[in-house]
Amino acid sequence: MTANATRVLVLNSGSSSVKYQLLDMRDGSRLAAGLVERIGEETSRLAHTPLATGGDKREREARIADHEEALKAVADELSADGLGLDSPELAAIGHRVVHGGLKFTEPTVIDDAVLQEIERLVPVAPLHNPANITGIRTAQALRPDLPQVAVFDTAFHTTMPEHAARYAIDVETADAHRIRRYGFHGTSHAYVSRKTAELLGKAPEDVNVIVLHLGNGASASAVAGGRCVDTSMGLTPLEGLVMGTRSGDIDPAVVFHLKRVAGMDADEIDVLLNKKSGLIGLCGDNDMREIRRRIDEGDQRAALAFDIYIHRLKKYIGAYSAVLGRVDAVAFTAGVGENAAPVREAAVKGLEELGLAVDADLNSVRSDEARLISPEYARVAVAVVPTDEELEIANQTYALVSN
Ligand code: ADP
Repeated sequence: MTANATRVLVLNSGSSSVKYQLLDMRDGSRLAAGLVERIGEETSRLAHTPLATGGDKREREARIADHEEALKAVADELSADGLGLDSPELAAIGHRVVHGGLKFTEPTVIDDAVLQEIERLVPVAPLHNPANITGIRTAQALRPDLPQVAVFDTAFHTTMPEHAARYAIDVETADAHRIRRYGFHGTSHAYVSRKTAELLGKAPEDVNVIVLHLGNGASASAVAGGRCVDTSMGLTPLEGLVMGTRSGDIDPAVVFHLKRVAGMDADEIDVLLNKKSGLIGLCGDNDMREIRRRIDEGDQRAALAFDIYIHRLKKYIGAYSAVLGRVDAVAFTAGVGENAAPVREAAVKGLEELGLAVDADLNSVRSDEARLISPEYARVAVAVVPTDEELEIANQTYALVSN
């Protein structure tokens, strides 16, 4: 790596999309960001924002057949801004990889053996890892000489003790099929728990934090002294909180019931629980803004969906208070957590015995900054901490390749 190689390209490859950001690691600033959507469909869409030049967002619609074409299109956009992938200033490409199993506890420079291991995990992450692998292969073909780093969504949770990670099922069956709780959104939980400690003016080792990552997908984690000790997602991202389209926790016997009584097969039940449940299943909308608007108009279904969402959230705050023993802060993050003041207010309401309270004025402030929203007297700090998974991936990638 040359001394002036200070840029990192972060790639988040989904099954039909690629999100990307180019960052300058001297100050963490963003030089460009964008998204390719509907890859492989009739009309794909590319939206690119050249942040370094302050230029306007460029959008175009045309068919983009596969990830290779998508990445080439991204490379062309970056070249048009003088930020091409052939630039000697590019130090590495950091890939978000959803499932790293138990093996990958840290960000890892990708070689053939690493790629094989990510492939070996496809059975436990059939929706995510194949797209991540395609993204990596495509980027490697484009810049074979450049270090490519995998940053795993599961890595932060590998510190969970066995008693939190194991399901209470037959051990041989579980081990034969690698069935255990892995957890996801780890990059966000790591970043937000560390930022929360910073906000309290303390070292991460000295604080216990409950992180509530509430986006379309949602998960909670209990972080003791900077290490994850429990998290709400499990073998897959389906477990835990009520989400935009996922049920979160249910009695597993619901699955047998749906099979035996409703005659649904495994794939249909998978779609029902992952795509047609949660908020959208309960009230037809998964956007919290729309749900709040309907509640304000007196819509009962939206109100019930909101109450179910909040009830689950409260149960996890209570459970993780018990797991941690002492809680210093509860941090709200991601789309809902950062923006929906009524969710934060309702989630904490009635938990005064646990030391939790929200100041109505502080809670109503809109800001992009990490901030406290609890009154001074509260024993536990309640914080809003905007997450930044791309910056975290870039930081981890750069730390690895610049050593
Ligand atoms: P993901 O990365 O999981 O797709 P995000 O973290 O971007 O999700 O969160 C998206 C969700 O955030 C939306 O579905 C919506 O419910 C919620 N959201 C975004 N902005 C607001 C807002 N201003 N008020 C309430 N909810 C919001």
